[in-house]
Amino acid sequence: MHYEPTYVYKNLMKMSVRVLRSICVEAAEFIGVRTCVSQGTFHKTVLLSRKCCGPKSIEARQQHFFSTHSNPFGISGTPKQTDDLKDRQQKLQKKGLPKKLPIPGVEHVILVASGKGGVGKSTTAVNLAVALSQVNQGLKVGILDADIYGPSIPTLMNLSGEPELNHQNLMLPLVNYGIKCMSMGFLVGESSALVWRGLMVMAAVQRLLRQVVWGPLDVLVVDMPPGTGDVQLSVSQNIPVSGAVVVTTPQDLALMDARRAVAMFSSVGVATLGLVENMSVWVCPACGHKEHVFGEGGAKNLQKQAKADILGQVPLTSSLRQLSDAGRPVVISQPGSAESQVYKDIASQLISKLNISTTNS
Ligand code: ADP
Repeated sequence: MHYEPTYVYKNLMKMSVRVLRSICVEAAEFIGVRTCVSQGTFHKTVLLSRKCCGPKSIEARQQHFFSTHSNPFGISGTPKQTDDLKDRQQKLQKKGLPKKLPIPGVEHVILVASGKGGVGKSTTAVNLAVALSQVNQGLKVGILDADIYGPSIPTLMNLSGEPELNHQNLMLPLVNYGIKCMSMGFLVGESSALVWRGLMVMAAVQRLLRQVVWGPLDVLVVDMPPGTGDVQLSVSQNIPVSGAVVVTTPQDLALMDARRAVAMFSSVGVATLGLVENMSVWVCPACGHKEHVFGEGGAKNLQKQAKADILGQVPLTSSLRQLSDAGRPVVISQPGSAESQVYKDIASQLISKLNISTTNS
């Protein structure tokens, strides 16, 4: 059969070949589309058979096509295509990320993080670790101090000295209160300043994760450095993480940064298990008067915005500070205090949220 090109139909210039073909499909008048460039513009020449001559015929068919097709361009009517595209995008994104390798013998990793320094993140990490081992007796817990620039776990856990190496040259964690601990503080002198670039810090974190005999452990609590930087990304992208606990104080500035921390974790696929509001209220030891030194209700607002539960509110007390700084976590030294109870409640919530049980022998 011989078909002759008939005319250029300008209204159809921006249409896809697929749509043009659909318009003409019944009578097979459609032959094809020839694209040419004239005066810097693309023109499509619709090639039709003689049977389908004239703009009227095309217009009629075009009207018919649009009135009878709810989705003529097939933009959203092809879920398979959309899924394929999503799959491809996800595969490409994953290609750029390092593979997450579990730490041998470690069941759960919980990150304790904060947007700002000085809000009591390390104090929370330590008391949480001890509380986890007490609430569920037999739970094996460890703490990794990933705060490379300002390691405070040695002080808070009353530990010092260099870690020993096993026959495979892996470091053995130091242990106190039944908790295995590893920190940069054990490897460098107390007063030595670490002047390291991001890559060196990330390499150090990798060593603390991989070159330490952590297992067997039910939970590894990681005391993260404050903020949302290289270490946070490195840890979240290199090991499977069960979730993050974000510590904040009630004042607006700390809350803003805590919100950023929650957003950062969500962007790297780490669930925020909840918020801990530290120093939420000061209770006068003499008369019991309560004072919201750093403001009130901040964590509640953050809870709504960040869609994360408040796991607990720890009061500001001088005994907590004194005990922590002396390396005697309040959960150990004053197990019956209000502060200890808050930490134990938080530990119980985490245990049930993550379904943590004693699995390691
Ligand atoms: P971060 O890890 O966020 O830098 P730290 O845990 O090192 O903060 O705590 C900073 C200081 O605040 C420490 O001296 C600690 O003892 C004290 N501190 C933490 N939480 C409380 C609290 N609830 N009440 C009193 N002092 C606290």
